[in-house]
Amino acid sequence: MGVFNEPVALLIADEQMPELSGSDLLRVSRELFPQAKRILLISYTDTHAAIHEINEGRIDYYIVKPWDPPEQCLYPALDDILTGWLITYDPSLTPLRVIDHRWSPKLYEIGRFLARNQVPYQWLDIENRPDALRLLEHLNLNQRKLPVVIFPDGSYLVNPELLQIADKLKLKTHAEKPFYDLIIVGSGPAGLAAAVYGASEGLSALLVEREAPGGQAGLSSRIENYLGFPTGLSGGELARRAVVQAERFGAEIVTPQKACRIKVNGQYRSVIMQDKSEVHCHTLLLACGVSYRQLDVPGISSLVGAGVYYGASVSEAILCKNEDVYIVGGANSAGQAAIYFSKYARSVTMLVRADSLAKDMSWYLINQINHTPNIIVKTNTRVVAVHGKHHLESITIVNDQSQEEQTLPATSLFIFIGAEPYTDWLKRTIKCDEKGFILTGPDLMSAEHHKPEHWQLERDPFYLETSVPGIFAAGDVRHGSIKRVAASVGEGSMAVLLIHRYLG
Ligand SMILES: Cc1cc2nc3c(=O)[nH]c(=O)nc-3n(C[C@H](O)[C@H](O)[C@H](O)COP(=O)(O)OP(=O)(O)OC[C@H]3O[C@@H](n4cnc5c(N)ncnc54)[C@H](O)[C@@H]3O)c2cc1C
Repeated sequence: MGVFNEPVALLIADEQMPELSGSDLLRVSRELFPQAKRILLISYTDTHAAIHEINEGRIDYYIVKPWDPPEQCLYPALDDILTGWLITYDPSLTPLRVIDHRWSPKLYEIGRFLARNQVPYQWLDIENRPDALRLLEHLNLNQRKLPVVIFPDGSYLVNPELLQIADKLKLKTHAEKPFYDLIIVGSGPAGLAAAVYGASEGLSALLVEREAPGGQAGLSSRIENYLGFPTGLSGGELARRAVVQAERFGAEIVTPQKACRIKVNGQYRSVIMQDKSEVHCHTLLLACGVSYRQLDVPGISSLVGAGVYYGASVSEAILCKNEDVYIVGGANSAGQAAIYFSKYARSVTMLVRADSLAKDMSWYLINQINHTPNIIVKTNTRVVAVHGKHHLESITIVNDQSQEEQTLPATSLFIFIGAEPYTDWLKRTIKCDEKGFILTGPDLMSAEHHKPEHWQLERDPFYLETSVPGIFAAGDVRHGSIKRVAASVGEGSMAVLLIHRYLG
């Protein structure tokens, strides 16, 4: 909050000031206004300094002076950055509130759902906020019925399902039409790209998403290697932009809604949803990505959501303010999370099975980790057990070199140990490899270049086409895909071209 008790959205400072450099001012201002966005104004020769500040996570953007014409060089950047701030800030006096205690798995589920759908909310901890108790009393509710979600209009839901919350928030949970040219399952980068390209080229397109647009990329606190965003952008931001773009072209997005089965009937394909509703199409794109691999150690199953978490989104980082956080994993997603958490937590300890981070992590992240004093990296280390009655209380780790075993107090453990496809629901119809990744195009052909079993067309399957004509796959779920945002976007866009060929 600023001097007039107003929130501060954006701080802009000129690097060349008489007594204090702009970067120093922005650095100091972090303490006072942690949520505000920061822009550094620089002359061309200061570009390196600005990039350094971005790498250290101290500024969000830089603008080179002079910014002529402002319509091109200043206003779009300001618009963009202020829109990004606005979605994390709700000016209304009665925002959406969730009352529950810190270790409730349901709070975690609801918080993640709201954050990933970019719905601002306030968490009222029943143990530390007297106003939470007063609110419950006022609603004639008690602490045995939690969580309670209170909406800005004063209505509330007790221990709701996500679909009930989605309905109250007026998210679109059902398709408008019975039939589409293209149905896309999954709205990660591949699905969103297909929706943008498909809809912009005149196809009626429906995107079905079980959680929230953005997919795995939506969990990323900062994607730094996506072309065209030199200062990086968060996964939430990428998803928000892509959703606007897809909807602008007329694509329809339903969420949360899970595709549970597909049916093939002559030239038509159908998707059966979790709520048993059915939607039909000419072509189907499976862009359902991968999900986090589970850590199999004693004690873990009852603590998921109560101190043990798979992946992490912005909402969890705030929950861990001033705590000691443990992160399992040594690849890029674990590295990004460590850097993000280090801004909120007292310390972040990375537990890495390999003997160095260099094995699986990009050098730019290793560099940032090495320069972040509150991140500790323990290599050759595995978690072998987790303990806790109602929530995580401690973890046991072992060093594979020294065989030393230690039990450490811990309240938050975030797991990033790779991912696997969840394609069981379509394996009866679509050919997958032994790990569950979907086979497409040349990978379906036998060594002797024979077409796949049951394939009845004269032509070979198109490059991204599955073992069923007219059903395509793109992104991480596809056998042999490159597991990156840009690669998924590329495949999603390419799929649309092949879909046009199929329809033609
Ligand atoms: C934390 C993290 C950080 C990362 N950082 C980077 C990075 O900096 N740079 C980079 O290039 N890559 C990064 N990656 C990898 C990148 O995010 C993935 O390669 C990319 O998101 C894959 O896109 P996709 O569309 O194929 O699948 P996903 O992103 O996995 O999206 C699939 C979507 O399908 C939905 N879905 C699945 N099954 C169903 C169903 N039955 N019904 C309805 N919906 C369904 C899922 O909910 C999900 O939203 C990161 C990954 C993670 C986890």
